[in-house]
Amino acid sequence: MPITDPMPVLTGTEHSAHLAELTRNGVRVLIGTVVDMAGVTRAKTVPVRRADAFHATGMGASPTWNVFCIDNAIAFTDRLGVVGDLRLRADLTALRTIGGGYAWAPAEFFTQHGLPSPGCARGRLRSVQAAAEAAGLTARVGHELEFTLTDRDGASLPRERWQAYGLGAVLDRGGLLADLASTLEAAAVPVEQLHAEYGTGQFELSLAPAAPLDAADQVTLARLLIGQVAREHGMLVSFSPLPFDGGAGNGAHVHLSLARDGGPLLSGGSGPYGLTEQGAAAVAGIVDGLPRMLGVFAGSVLSAARLRPGLWSGAFACWGLENREAAVRLLAATPGNPHGANVELKCVDPSANVYLATCAVLALARDGIERKALLPAEVRTDPAADPSAVRLPATQEAALDALEGSATARAVLGDDIVSALLAVRRHEQRGYGGMSPAALAERFRFAWSS
Ligand code: GLU
Ligand code: MG
Repeated sequence: MPITDPMPVLTGTEHSAHLAELTRNGVRVLIGTVVDMAGVTRAKTVPVRRADAFHATGMGASPTWNVFCIDNAIAFTDRLGVVGDLRLRADLTALRTIGGGYAWAPAEFFTQHGLPSPGCARGRLRSVQAAAEAAGLTARVGHELEFTLTDRDGASLPRERWQAYGLGAVLDRGGLLADLASTLEAAAVPVEQLHAEYGTGQFELSLAPAAPLDAADQVTLARLLIGQVAREHGMLVSFSPLPFDGGAGNGAHVHLSLARDGGPLLSGGSGPYGLTEQGAAAVAGIVDGLPRMLGVFAGSVLSAARLRPGLWSGAFACWGLENREAAVRLLAATPGNPHGANVELKCVDPSANVYLATCAVLALARDGIERKALLPAEVRTDPAADPSAVRLPATQEAALDALEGSATARAVLGDDIVSALLAVRRHEQRGYGGMSPAALAERFRFAWSS
């Protein structure tokens, strides 16, 4: 599928108004970010007077930006070599002022002739969202961000003082968490809640549901701001799937709800827990397609070390109401669920590219609806105790091999993205796949941090 829905372009008058507002707000530098295939956020920055140029014609970027690896190697492919250049254009319609003299905008890759680059993850999600909407399907996506704070040298916070979900853990970091809440609020990133998680030094912040592209942008910005606030408090933040061996992993759970012509698909129907026929088919499509798409959701060299039974990371390709060991947890429409029914995809981790993970879950849901997929039986217990439960691919190699064979992945993401994804992940696997989880956790603790 080509990228069909172009980035909105500001008129000259809108440009001038933007520039005046940025200057009024004391902005000196505009940061434009892209998330690459390895899940790392890369950036170009310009002085604020160059904001228009960043938007209209863009800044130069080698096509290899998409195949930079977590160790900063470049995983050249037969499509991506040393020749050629792309333009990185900031989407100023999504611009936010973020304090400290900075503004931020997500950027997209274009060719030098001004066409959307087929390898651009954000451009891809824009098109996937537009195609779903054109087919009458509206999605809302809510992200959870788990992250682990460390001291300024990258060492764990003291284990003996940590209490899972503890008040003490929150009060110990009270200033940082309060700054986080106000910084995100000021940047219009809608925080739903913020709490201490299970693992030592681990916290979680969840964001309100939004349209898929906006929700993915919010994750990118939130990760930037969490890094910035942590630095101000003399700490570092890890978004690694496994920050410390033996401790809890960091997930990046994705909540999805769907509606057709304004009516919800995951509630109000006659299926289990009120699923409509199409809602049940969407859930079935996600459950069926997960093993082949896992390389998009949790494909890094550290992903398999997190995605194990017993860690609430969703290591089994099954669904269940409020089942925290199922990769697909259904949250039904109850008075206790003000955002309405949704499914939570738990297997996703923060080494994934959030734009591509969103494309993938939407594609699986649509695929299920289109082929009227039958909802498999619900798993009502811990799937580890159910011999019929299907475990998701348990190694990086298995996840990548499955992805390579996925027609749905190629159809939704395109060959450029799939080949680039496989190239960076296979580089990880070849170079580091033989290392112990402890050594890997240490080596790549900050690979996905901003
Ligand atoms: N930290 C777990 C993970 O790796 C998730 C815990 C939870 O259910 O919030 O996904
Ligand atoms: Mg959590």
